[in-house]
Amino acid sequence: MLNPTLIQHARSADLLQLAGQYTRLKHIASSGGGEWAGPCPIPGCRCHRDGFRVQPGQKRWLCRNCTDGKWQDAIALVMRLESLPFGEAVQRLAGSFSPNAAVQPVPPSEPISVPPSTTWQKRSQEVIHRAQELLWGQAGAQPIPWDVPDPQSGIAKPASLSPLNWLRGRGLRDETIRKFKLGWIPRDTRDDARHWGMAGKPLFLSQGITIPGMVGETCWYLKVRRPRGKPKYLHLRGSRPALFMANDLASHMSIVFCEGEFDAMLLAQEAGDLAGIATFGSASQHLDVAAWGWYLLHARRFLIAYDVDGKSENGIQGLLTLRHAVRATIPQLQPEDKDFTDFHKSGGDLRHWLSFWLANQEGKA
Ligand SMILES: [Zn+2]
Repeated sequence: MLNPTLIQHARSADLLQLAGQYTRLKHIASSGGGEWAGPCPIPGCRCHRDGFRVQPGQKRWLCRNCTDGKWQDAIALVMRLESLPFGEAVQRLAGSFSPNAAVQPVPPSEPISVPPSTTWQKRSQEVIHRAQELLWGQAGAQPIPWDVPDPQSGIAKPASLSPLNWLRGRGLRDETIRKFKLGWIPRDTRDDARHWGMAGKPLFLSQGITIPGMVGETCWYLKVRRPRGKPKYLHLRGSRPALFMANDLASHMSIVFCEGEFDAMLLAQEAGDLAGIATFGSASQHLDVAAWGWYLLHARRFLIAYDVDGKSENGIQGLLTLRHAVRATIPQLQPEDKDFTDFHKSGGDLRHWLSFWLANQEGKA
């Protein structure tokens, strides 16, 4: 399995030798351990001559075109050259280390984005599966009190709803609820940390709707939307931030970033064929380009559609650094509408809205 040491080994690979297998490089500068330049070896990149640069001493490379002049590491290079996911690129690079070679320790320069352990994965799959059974069984059909904001005042009022009907009330169809493996935990529970490969206190599994943060088959986080009280959302301990729905992005030219999972699932349901849809799960999460940037490589434009509540500025600024990123205004049919779910519930047509935006951006990108 991937561990931080393996990732560090992969990052410390000899870039000159690696890139030299794909392109012809010439020495252009001696400062900072030397710099080499040549045509970019990345498939599909049409950078100008010598737009590809390698600084082997610094363990980094860039392309003026396809990385926008931003430095990258060896893992990112292999991911792009061979179209490999992060984990396989690490394995490939780490595999090329001979056990006798002196490995240069690389100081950790950025937080390492790796999914939770295999033990955590296994246990989370069990919890997700059980929560799905409960949602589609008796527990999911049984009404319980929810805090539902009054559309006029915004003040939460208790309403009696079954978990399944609460989800349907957000516009999600049953096949969407199944597709995203949503589930239901009927009451607060605690689970021995050792089941998750962790130490310390038992993990707290709150009553609520379970939202698995899946990227492909890997669960990066487990989030629970609680029916009442604050905070509304809880992350299960050991969860790691991830780009929700990242694995559906590769084939799309346009990508829409939503503020949260529920909006992203709804938009994917209504218009997922028109664009790639993704979310970092909360507006305050910044884009970790090192970890998730490669999922966005094929995209030509980015639409950032966050709630109209003024709380999202941080997250938006991070995303606006992407090439051709534009902010989309969330349509408002009612003055109280602030997200896609509200718009949809007010009778809005998300598909029509997105087509309009995409057509509007066509000429600009
Ligand atoms: Zn390039």
